[in-house]
Amino acid sequence: MLIDLRSDTVTRPTLTMLEAMFSAKVGDDVFNEDPTVLLLEQKSAALFGKEAGLFCPSGTMTNQIAIKCHTQPGDELLCDINSHIYNYEGGGIASNSGVQSKLIHGDRGRLNALQIKENINGDFDWLAKTSLVCLENTVNKAGGSYYDLNTLQEIKQVCQQHHLSLHLDGARIFNALVETNDSTPEIGNQFDSISICLSKGLGAPVGSVLLGTSAFIKKARRVRKVFGGGMRQVGYLAAAGIYALDNHIQRLREDHQRAKAIENILLTLPYVKNVIPVDTNIVIFELPQTILAVDFALKLKEQQLLVSVFGKHTIRLVTHLDFTDDHLEACEGILKNYSK
Ligand SMILES: *Cc1c(COP(=O)(O)O)cnc(C)c1O
Repeated sequence: MLIDLRSDTVTRPTLTMLEAMFSAKVGDDVFNEDPTVLLLEQKSAALFGKEAGLFCPSGTMTNQIAIKCHTQPGDELLCDINSHIYNYEGGGIASNSGVQSKLIHGDRGRLNALQIKENINGDFDWLAKTSLVCLENTVNKAGGSYYDLNTLQEIKQVCQQHHLSLHLDGARIFNALVETNDSTPEIGNQFDSISICLSKGLGAPVGSVLLGTSAFIKKARRVRKVFGGGMRQVGYLAAAGIYALDNHIQRLREDHQRAKAIENILLTLPYVKNVIPVDTNIVIFELPQTILAVDFALKLKEQQLLVSVFGKHTIRLVTHLDFTDDHLEACEGILKNYSK
């Protein structure tokens, strides 16, 4: 039995999701004529109280389109040093938008209003114009931490006072929401644009949706085409996204419980130096200087357990839809039996 905890993107569509995909009505989405895509876009926008949505092939594309639409070349955006947009999107902020990033050291990837206020450039010819703030919720690289609504409201206020746009990389926003019980419109109300991923914990094979005002999405649609993301009969994939939104949100709690169980196992193991507190479905832990993460991952792979190397001595595990209680039990055995 192979257990894959490298990411929550490794899931396969369930049988019922495949049935929904198989029976989707489709059309040419570049002509705006795919009814299933239109339904997914309207549904996700309405869920967060936004006017419109745009279905894209990846979360990288939704984030990069948002950054391009909110900025001009030569501008500066503010984000946490752990953020996905800065670390894992191939330098796209600079190459797609000609924008530089000011990296802030938040609390496990989370910024606060004061940090943002203090990092806005003054209006001088020799300083880049600060025009955008990007938050991530949950924060992948910081171990799945999430924001409380109050902090988001304070950040929104600072952004409004200083005429900054506010974008949310919500690749795992539903993981945050099942913990906080904040409503989706409350989250939607704090941001100018939101990117949600359907292919992470929600278990769809492909896709992210960008949400915002109708005018913003009209602009974003043009940028998507320029980036090569205009798709044709893509309703088959949108159908998987609709199915995921209807059926796979509440079950994310199970992923969190299993991640917590892994944390508790790790805390008893002599070779584990430190575990970042587990808030959602991401478990990041540190090995001692004597064990290299690559060697550790290779040993586990021999036992049919796949994990991600996240640093020289750092390992990441992510729980997901295809990780069951049986897998958890097997995983416990493998972790307990590890020896160098
Ligand atoms: C996965 C992820 C994305 C998008 O990744 P794609 O692989 O391009 O879909 C964006 N932000 C965060 C925080 C992510 O974890």
